[in-house]
Amino acid sequence: MVAWVPADFYRAVDGGLQCTLCPFRCRLRDGDTGACKVRRREGDRVLTATWGTTVEHWSSVERKPFYHFRPGLPLLTLAPPGCSFRCDYCVNHRVSQYGRDPDSRVSAPDADVEKLVAAAAERGGGLALSYSEPSLAAELTLELGARARPLGIPLVWKSNGFLTPEAVERVAPVLDAVNIDVKAADEDAHRRLTGAPLAPVLETLRLLTAAGVWVEVSTPLIPGTSAEDRQLGRIAEFVASLGPDTPWHLLRFTPTYRMRDQRPTSPERLADAARIGRAAGLRYVYVERALGAEGRATRCPGCGVEVVARGVWGQTESLLRDGSCPGCGEPIAGIWTVDERTGA
Ligand code: SF4
Repeated sequence: MVAWVPADFYRAVDGGLQCTLCPFRCRLRDGDTGACKVRRREGDRVLTATWGTTVEHWSSVERKPFYHFRPGLPLLTLAPPGCSFRCDYCVNHRVSQYGRDPDSRVSAPDADVEKLVAAAAERGGGLALSYSEPSLAAELTLELGARARPLGIPLVWKSNGFLTPEAVERVAPVLDAVNIDVKAADEDAHRRLTGAPLAPVLETLRLLTAAGVWVEVSTPLIPGTSAEDRQLGRIAEFVASLGPDTPWHLLRFTPTYRMRDQRPTSPERLADAARIGRAAGLRYVYVERALGAEGRATRCPGCGVEVVARGVWGQTESLLRDGSCPGCGEPIAGIWTVDERTGA
C-alpha cells in the first residue's frame, strides 16, 4: 500500500498549480498526476506518494557507491517509490517505475522519521535514499535532514540529479553527500535513454558542488549510448570540470528489465572506460565489479601507492593519515573521518 500525503514544491500559476520539484514543471489540473506518477493534484493542493519507503535496511556507504565519504559508514537506506526517469535498463524498476509500469506493485509504509533518526544515531550510522529517485522525496529528505543534522547524522542521496535549481537550493543544506548518475553526454542520447533532458542534471551537479555537498558521479555503461568512447570521453570531461578530484564510478551494465537481450559490459570495456576517465584528468576512477580489487582501490595521485582498499561488500582498509598519503603526504580529496559540515 502507498499513502498519499500533502506535498510541498508547487505554486499557483495561471489559475492552476505547477509542480516546481523537477524540470518537467508539470501543470496540474484537478485530478492530474505528474509525469513522475508519484505527485498528483487534489483540489487546491498537491499530494505525493513519496513519504513512504519500500525498504528500510542497512548497507555500507561504499555500496551506493561513495568511495571518498566516511569509509565504512553504515547507512540506513530508504527507497520511496517512483522516478522521474524511465530507463529501460533500470535494475530497480519494480520500485522506480511505480505508477508507470503495471508490474511495479510495491508497499511503502509511511517513514517514521523520528524512529529512523534514532536508529541511525544508535548505530553511529547515516541515512540514505537510494534505489528509486530520492529527489522526488524532497519533503521526506528535508524532514530527515532537519532532525538528523543537529545530531551529526549524515544524510546522502543516490540520485539522477533531475531537480529544478530552486529545489536544489532547498535540499542542499541538509545533504552531506550525493552520488549522481550522468548517463549520456548529449541531449539526444540522454532523452532516448531516460525520457528527460540532460542539461538540468549537469546544472544540479554544478550547484551541489558549489554548495559544498560532497559529490561523486556514476556512469552506467549502457549499450548504444553511454558505453561509446565519444560519450564516455565527454562525460569524463564534464566530471573533470567539477574538479579533477571528483570520484567517477563506472557501472557495469547487466541485462535486465527491457534490455534483457543485451550483453553485459566486458571487463576489457570497463578498463578502457577507466582509461578514458584518467585521460580526461580524473584522479579517482572506479569500477566496483569486474576488475577485482584494483578497480575499487584508491591510489595516491602523487606516488601511486594504494591508500584505500575495498572489498566487494564495502569492507574498507585505509592507510590514510589525516586524509593524506602515508608515503608522500599528498592530500587525498574526500571526507574521511567526520562530516566536516556538521563536525560530528
Ligand atoms: S516531480 Fe513529478 S509532478 Fe513534479 S514536475 Fe516532476 S514529473 Fe511533474
